[in-house]
Amino acid sequence: MICLFGGTFDPVHLGHLHAARVVCDALALSEVRLLLSARPGHRAEPQATVEQRWQMLRLACADDGRLSPDDTEIRRAARQGRPSYTVETLEELREQQPRAVLAWVIGSDAYRELMTWHRWREVLGLTNLVVLHRPGTPLQLADELDALTRERRLAQPPQQPSGGVLVLEATMRDVSSTTIRQALAAAGRQSSGHCAAVADLLPPAVYTYIIEHHLYGVVSDA
Ligand code: ATP
Repeated sequence: MICLFGGTFDPVHLGHLHAARVVCDALALSEVRLLLSARPGHRAEPQATVEQRWQMLRLACADDGRLSPDDTEIRRAARQGRPSYTVETLEELREQQPRAVLAWVIGSDAYRELMTWHRWREVLGLTNLVVLHRPGTPLQLADELDALTRERRLAQPPQQPSGGVLVLEATMRDVSSTTIRQALAAAGRQSSGHCAAVADLLPPAVYTYIIEHHLYGVVSDA
């Protein structure tokens, strides 16, 4: 099985890593690919540059052999000079691996928005989805997506190449990139240079990178 966990990772945090590890365990996988989105068409611009987000993702994955940072989407976006779409990544992968079982990991917040994705119906034709319950974001779905989820729902890890929806009941961490960015900006305004609350939510190397590069409103100690 090829398992992809896509995100803006602005920045990547311990909630993402926990989620990826839970999926590895639940699906008995040796690898989950954390796929960086260059510029998702349906979302606001990330704050850190694509290069900075890529460096943070590499640092976050460095200590766990099961987590692989994947730059396929950012390389395609750079080549094409336009936003990257999940459906295109999946089409490319499907062409290379026509029979592989594909799984796309997605949190409940993002799954609720699936119908806003570019060519969203085709996404399910190309991959299975593994949906994670994010704290504070119950799986309340619009009628059409709700019906489709019931129809496609799997009781076991996917064995078919695409088309199934597996909802994992595992507990996720209550961490988001938005809260981290906000806390860092608030700490930056107080010129503290260090933000203990945020340090606990990030891989240590990512926290150091953010402080050293003054990302998200962090100010220099000097
Ligand atoms: P932001 O707050 O900027 O929206 P985010 O924390 O949601 O960021 P993203 O990079 O947008 O992070 O998320 C990528 C994917 O990871 C999405 O499918 C999202 O639902 C999922 N995800 C993010 N945080 C968690 C978490 N704590 N637990 C489980 N899944 C998560």
